[in-house]
Amino acid sequence: MSIYETVKEQLDLRTVAEHYCIDSRNGMTACIFHDDRSPSMKLYADHYYCFGCSACGDVTAFTAGLFGISQAEAAQKLAADFGIAEVHCKEKPSIKTKLTVIGERQREQEAFRILCDYCHLLRSARTELAPKSPNEPFHPLFAESLQHLTEYEFYCDIFISGSKEERTEFMNERRNLLNELKRKLTQPLERAETIA
Ligand SMILES: [Zn+2]
Repeated sequence: MSIYETVKEQLDLRTVAEHYCIDSRNGMTACIFHDDRSPSMKLYADHYYCFGCSACGDVTAFTAGLFGISQAEAAQKLAADFGIAEVHCKEKPSIKTKLTVIGERQREQEAFRILCDYCHLLRSARTELAPKSPNEPFHPLFAESLQHLTEYEFYCDIFISGSKEERTEFMNERRNLLNELKRKLTQPLERAETIA
Protein backbone atom coordinates (compact mmCIF):
# COMPACT_ATOMS: atom_id res chain seq x y z
CA MET A 1 0.00 0.00 0.00
CA SER A 2 1.39 3.40 -0.95
CA ILE A 3 1.81 6.20 1.57
CA TYR A 4 -0.94 8.04 -0.32
CA GLU A 5 -3.40 5.18 0.10
CA THR A 6 -2.49 4.61 3.76
CA VAL A 7 -2.87 8.26 4.69
CA LYS A 8 -6.23 8.36 2.93
CA GLU A 9 -7.39 5.22 4.67
CA GLN A 10 -6.24 6.19 8.16
CA LEU A 11 -7.06 9.88 8.42
CA ASP A 12 -10.43 11.53 8.89
CA LEU A 13 -10.57 14.76 6.88
CA ARG A 14 -12.41 16.59 9.68
CA THR A 15 -9.71 15.64 12.20
CA VAL A 16 -7.04 16.81 9.76
CA ALA A 17 -8.84 20.14 9.18
CA GLU A 18 -9.15 20.67 12.91
CA HIS A 19 -5.47 19.85 13.40
CA TYR A 20 -4.56 22.51 10.84
CA CYS A 21 -6.79 25.06 12.65
CA ILE A 22 -9.57 25.13 10.10
CA ASP A 23 -12.66 26.55 11.79
CA SER A 24 -15.75 24.52 11.06
CA ARG A 25 -19.27 24.44 12.40
CA ASN A 26 -21.42 21.41 11.66
CA GLY A 27 -18.73 20.37 9.24
CA MET A 28 -19.10 23.61 7.23
CA THR A 29 -16.09 25.86 6.70
CA ALA A 30 -14.97 28.73 4.47
CA CYS A 31 -13.74 27.25 1.18
CA ILE A 32 -9.95 27.24 0.84
CA PHE A 33 -10.17 27.21 -2.96
CA HIS A 34 -12.21 30.36 -3.59
CA ASP A 35 -12.77 33.70 -1.91
CA ASP A 36 -15.53 32.45 0.32
CA ARG A 37 -17.51 34.88 2.49
CA SER A 38 -19.85 32.30 3.99
CA PRO A 39 -18.89 28.76 4.91
CA SER A 40 -19.62 26.91 1.67
CA MET A 41 -17.34 23.92 2.07
CA LYS A 42 -18.66 20.78 3.70
CA LEU A 43 -16.13 18.49 5.32
CA TYR A 44 -16.90 14.79 5.34
CA ALA A 45 -14.83 11.99 6.84
CA ASP A 46 -13.28 11.02 3.53
CA HIS A 47 -13.82 14.02 1.24
CA TYR A 48 -14.80 17.67 0.99
CA TYR A 49 -17.23 19.46 -1.29
CA CYS A 50 -17.70 23.21 -1.86
CA PHE A 51 -21.24 24.31 -2.66
CA GLY A 52 -19.85 27.60 -3.97
CA CYS A 53 -17.16 26.51 -6.46
CA SER A 54 -17.80 22.76 -6.61
CA ALA A 55 -14.28 21.95 -5.45
CA CYS A 56 -14.09 18.41 -4.15
CA GLY A 57 -11.42 15.92 -3.24
CA ASP A 58 -9.90 13.75 -0.58
CA VAL A 59 -7.73 14.46 2.45
CA THR A 60 -4.52 14.80 0.42
CA ALA A 61 -6.13 17.18 -2.10
CA PHE A 62 -7.43 19.22 0.83
CA THR A 63 -4.01 19.40 2.49
CA ALA A 64 -2.35 20.14 -0.85
CA GLY A 65 -4.74 23.06 -1.44
CA LEU A 66 -4.34 24.32 2.10
CA PHE A 67 -0.54 24.49 1.95
CA GLY A 68 -0.08 25.05 -1.78
CA ILE A 69 1.87 21.81 -2.25
CA SER A 70 1.46 18.77 -4.50
CA GLN A 71 -0.71 15.85 -3.43
CA ALA A 72 2.36 13.64 -3.12
CA GLU A 73 3.96 16.20 -0.81
CA ALA A 74 0.69 16.48 1.09
CA ALA A 75 0.64 12.72 1.65
CA GLN A 76 4.19 12.89 3.04
CA LYS A 77 3.26 15.85 5.24
CA LEU A 78 0.17 14.10 6.61
CA ALA A 79 2.16 10.96 7.36
CA ALA A 80 4.75 13.06 9.21
CA ASP A 81 2.28 15.28 11.05
CA PHE A 82 0.06 12.40 12.16
CA GLY A 83 2.81 9.93 12.99
CA ILE A 84 2.03 7.48 10.24
CA ALA A 85 5.73 6.62 10.11
CA GLU A 86 5.10 2.89 9.96
CA VAL A 87 3.89 3.42 6.40
CA HIS A 88 7.45 4.27 5.55
CA CYS A 89 8.72 1.24 7.42
CA LYS A 90 6.35 -1.02 5.53
CA GLU A 91 7.76 0.22 2.26
CA LYS A 92 11.39 0.11 3.36
CA PRO A 93 12.02 -3.65 3.36
CA SER A 94 11.50 -3.89 -0.38
CA ILE A 95 13.97 -1.08 -1.02
CA LYS A 96 16.33 -2.52 1.59
CA THR A 97 16.04 -5.95 0.01
CA LYS A 98 16.80 -4.45 -3.39
CA LEU A 99 19.88 -2.71 -2.01
CA THR A 100 21.02 -5.91 -0.32
CA VAL A 101 20.68 -7.84 -3.58
CA ILE A 102 22.57 -5.13 -5.48
CA GLY A 103 25.26 -5.09 -2.77
CA GLU A 104 25.61 -8.88 -2.93
CA ARG A 105 25.87 -8.82 -6.71
CA GLN A 106 28.55 -6.12 -6.60
CA ARG A 107 30.57 -8.02 -4.00
CA GLU A 108 30.32 -11.20 -6.08
CA GLN A 109 31.40 -9.33 -9.22
CA GLU A 110 34.36 -7.88 -7.35
CA ALA A 111 35.30 -11.31 -5.98
CA PHE A 112 35.15 -12.80 -9.48
CA ARG A 113 37.30 -9.99 -10.88
CA ILE A 114 39.89 -10.47 -8.11
CA LEU A 115 40.04 -14.22 -8.75
CA CYS A 116 40.33 -13.75 -12.53
CA ASP A 117 43.07 -11.16 -12.15
CA TYR A 118 44.98 -13.31 -9.71
CA CYS A 119 44.70 -16.41 -11.90
CA HIS A 120 45.99 -14.30 -14.79
CA LEU A 121 48.94 -13.21 -12.63
CA LEU A 122 49.74 -16.78 -11.61
CA ARG A 123 49.48 -18.04 -15.22
CA SER A 124 52.01 -15.39 -16.25
CA ALA A 125 54.24 -16.36 -13.33
CA ARG A 126 54.06 -20.00 -14.44
CA THR A 127 55.75 -19.17 -17.74
CA GLU A 128 57.70 -15.99 -17.05
CA LEU A 129 59.05 -16.86 -13.62
CA ALA A 130 59.80 -20.54 -14.19
CA PRO A 131 63.33 -21.41 -12.98
CA LYS A 132 65.89 -21.42 -15.81
CA SER A 133 68.00 -24.17 -14.25
CA PRO A 134 67.49 -27.02 -11.74
CA ASN A 135 69.52 -25.13 -9.12
CA GLU A 136 67.54 -21.90 -9.31
CA PRO A 137 65.17 -21.53 -6.33
CA PHE A 138 61.46 -21.19 -7.07
CA HIS A 139 60.15 -17.65 -7.30
CA PRO A 140 57.35 -17.22 -4.66
CA LEU A 141 54.74 -16.48 -7.34
CA PHE A 142 55.87 -19.44 -9.45
CA ALA A 143 55.62 -21.64 -6.36
CA GLU A 144 52.19 -20.22 -5.60
CA SER A 145 51.04 -20.91 -9.16
CA LEU A 146 52.03 -24.57 -8.73
CA GLN A 147 50.27 -24.82 -5.39
CA HIS A 148 47.13 -22.74 -5.92
CA LEU A 149 46.39 -21.91 -9.57
CA THR A 150 44.10 -24.92 -10.07
CA GLU A 151 42.32 -24.14 -6.81
CA TYR A 152 41.76 -20.48 -7.75
CA GLU A 153 40.57 -21.45 -11.24
CA PHE A 154 38.05 -23.72 -9.58
CA TYR A 155 36.83 -20.74 -7.53
CA CYS A 156 36.44 -18.73 -10.77
CA ASP A 157 34.24 -21.51 -12.10
CA ILE A 158 31.93 -21.10 -9.10
CA PHE A 159 31.15 -17.60 -10.35
CA ILE A 160 30.81 -18.70 -13.98
CA SER A 161 28.69 -21.83 -13.59
CA GLY A 162 28.03 -22.31 -9.87
CA SER A 163 24.69 -21.98 -8.11
CA LYS A 164 23.63 -19.01 -6.01
CA GLU A 165 24.19 -21.14 -2.88
CA GLU A 166 27.73 -22.07 -3.95
CA ARG A 167 28.59 -18.42 -4.60
CA THR A 168 27.14 -17.34 -1.24
CA GLU A 169 29.04 -20.12 0.55
CA PHE A 170 32.27 -19.07 -1.15
CA MET A 171 31.69 -15.40 -0.29
CA ASN A 172 31.07 -16.29 3.36
CA GLU A 173 33.93 -18.74 3.81
CA ARG A 174 36.67 -17.21 1.66
CA ARG A 175 36.44 -13.58 2.68
CA ASN A 176 39.98 -13.61 4.09
CA LEU A 177 41.42 -15.20 0.96
CA LEU A 178 39.72 -12.58 -1.23
CA ASN A 179 41.07 -9.74 0.91
CA GLU A 180 44.54 -11.27 0.75
CA LEU A 181 44.45 -11.64 -3.05
CA LYS A 182 43.03 -8.14 -3.41
CA ARG A 183 45.84 -6.77 -1.26
CA LYS A 184 48.46 -8.56 -3.37
CA LEU A 185 46.88 -7.27 -6.59
CA THR A 186 46.65 -3.66 -5.42
CA GLN A 187 50.32 -3.50 -4.59
CA PRO A 188 51.71 -3.40 -8.12
CA LEU A 189 55.12 -2.05 -7.06
CA GLU A 190 55.79 -4.85 -4.61
CA ARG A 191 54.51 -7.30 -7.18
CA ALA A 192 56.75 -5.86 -9.89
CA GLU A 193 59.72 -6.18 -7.56
CA THR A 194 58.81 -9.75 -6.77
CA ILE A 195 58.43 -10.60 -10.44
CA ALA A 196 61.61 -8.72 -11.35
ZN1 LIG B 1 -15.11 26.85 -3.01
